[in-house]
Amino acid sequence: MFFITFFFGVFGVHHFLRRHYGLGVLYFFTAGLIGIGWLVDTVRAFIAMFKTSDEPRGGGRRCRQCGRRIEPRRNSTLCAHCEEKMEQEYLQISKHFTRVIDEVEKGQPHLEGYLRRFDILNKDVEQMWDLAQDIDVEPPFHQRDLRQAMDRKFVEAVSMRISMALEKSQITMDVTKLRQELMDLTEELIDCKYHFPKYAELIAPMIEKTKETLNKI
Ligand SMILES: [Zn+2]
Repeated sequence: MFFITFFFGVFGVHHFLRRHYGLGVLYFFTAGLIGIGWLVDTVRAFIAMFKTSDEPRGGGRRCRQCGRRIEPRRNSTLCAHCEEKMEQEYLQISKHFTRVIDEVEKGQPHLEGYLRRFDILNKDVEQMWDLAQDIDVEPPFHQRDLRQAMDRKFVEAVSMRISMALEKSQITMDVTKLRQELMDLTEELIDCKYHFPKYAELIAPMIEKTKETLNKI
């Protein structure tokens, strides 16, 4: 858990792993409570690495996933091998997260590419749900939480594109270019809607918003 907290804790991944979804979402949007929460959690996870479990020895317990004998003193229904495999999958998801966030935060995200990644991410989470059911634990992510977070990021990205175009035109006083940029954005959104009909509900109001801005010029 230390390495996950250290590398991905700023996105709240360690909270999602522990099924603390509220905290996870909070960390996700505040960059780990502006880094302070992340720092405290990282130090805690580091100390925990050196503490031995108080649980009685594993005895004859077997891994729920593969049936192999669980290593003694392990406080889990999974063997170390299976748990590591699961953690790897979680890491995979968090890498996708990081990539999507990076793309949005670079400033000029390609909206369709963003939705495509979001779609891949959603499929990953679906796989995690299946995996979680197999080993009889609660699903690792609530798809609903993920969807809400990603929706919000998408709306932010579009709003950012509009406000950047407006700001630029205030400096250059170039209305023609502003019109062109907003029309390009509208077209990009229409393409998005065409290629990702399942996100139409998210995209349609963004098209309206861009058109509205265009009409006000
Ligand atoms: Zn196992």
